Amino acid sequence: MKAAFFSEHGDSSKLIVGEIEPKPLLDMQIKIKVKYAALNRLDIYTRNGNPKLKIPLPHIGGSDVVGEVVEVGENVSESVIGKNVVVYPVLFCKTCEFCLEGEHSLCYSFSMIGEHQWGGFAEYIVVPSDNYHILPDNSDLKSICSMSLTTMTAWRMLKSKAQLKKDQTILVLGAGGGLSSTAIQISKLIGATVIATTGSDEKLKYVKQLGADHVLNYSTNPEWSKEVWEITEKKGVDVVFESTGEKTWESSLRSLKKGGKLVTAGATTGFNGKTNIGLVFWKQLEILGSTMASISEFHEAINLIQTNKIKPNIDKIYSLDEIKQAYDHLESGKHKGKVLIKF
Ligand SMILES: [Zn+2]
Repeated sequence: MKAAFFSEHGDSSKLIVGEIEPKPLLDMQIKIKVKYAALNRLDIYTRNGNPKLKIPLPHIGGSDVVGEVVEVGENVSESVIGKNVVVYPVLFCKTCEFCLEGEHSLCYSFSMIGEHQWGGFAEYIVVPSDNYHILPDNSDLKSICSMSLTTMTAWRMLKSKAQLKKDQTILVLGAGGGLSSTAIQISKLIGATVIATTGSDEKLKYVKQLGADHVLNYSTNPEWSKEVWEITEKKGVDVVFESTGEKTWESSLRSLKKGGKLVTAGATTGFNGKTNIGLVFWKQLEILGSTMASISEFHEAINLIQTNKIKPNIDKIYSLDEIKQAYDHLESGKHKGKVLIKF
C-alpha cells in the first residue's frame, strides 16, 4: 500500500512517501480504506523521536482517521463493511481496573494509534474492532476527521475534569491551534465567558470568530495576566485551559479565582512550569491533568461535531504526496485550525 512513513527519527526530510507492506488483519480487527487523516502535534513528536519511547521502525503516523471499512477479521460482524467510520485512537487492554471503570485513557497499557501503532497516513489502516464510531451516509467526513481527537480531548478536559459550568469564566491559552480552538467552542456551548490568549493579530480575529468574548495578544502584551485580572474584576477565572506549559504556567495559576481549576493536556513550550505552592493551598486551587478521552467521551464528542454544535476549523488540506509540507506547516505554528491529508 502507499503510505507516508519514516525509518529513522528526525525532521520532515525523514518522511518517505512510497510503498510499504501493510499489517495483516487479525482477529477482532477491522481494515479501513483511509479517506482523510489529520495531523496533530503528536505526529511531530513521534517523528522527531523520544529516547524514552522506542517504537518499531518504519512507522506511520496519523491519529485522526476517517475512512470506509473494507474488511473485518475473525469474530467481527460483517455488517460494518462498507460503512464510513471515525477511529478512536486510544488502544487499551479491556481488563485493567481503569478499563473496567470505562476510563480507557488511564489504562495501564495505554497506547495510541499513530504513535505506538501504525496510523492513518496510509491507504489502509488496521484497528481493533472496538475503536470506531459509525458515521451516517451524509456525514461531512473531513470535518469529523479534523475534529475528532481535539474535540474528545477538550470535551474530557472541560466536562469531565474541570466541570466547566454556565456563567463561569474560562481562560483558554494559545488559542488558534486545534485543541484550544475547540475548547473555545465547547466553552461557549456550555455557556461560559471565554478569555483567550493568542500570539498574533491575525489569529486574534479568528479566535473572536470562534466566539471568544475577550482576546489578548500575548506577544504584544506580555502582561496579559494583569488584563485577565481586570476583566474578571480582580477575582480571576474559574477555569484555565492549559496546553502551552512552561511559558504560561505561572501566569495561568495566578489567573485563577479562589477555588479555581487549571486543566492541562499539553506542554508545547516545556515541562518545567514553576508552581507557587502557597498560592495553590491559599486559594485552594485544583490542578488537573488529562489525556485523550474514554470511548464514551469519544462518542459524545463525535455527536457534537455531527450535530454541528462544534464547527470544524480546517486550515489546509494536502495530498499524501505533499505530507512533508503538511508537517512543516503544522510545525511553523502559522496554521489556524487543522491540517489534513486527503486520499
Ligand atoms: Zn486497561
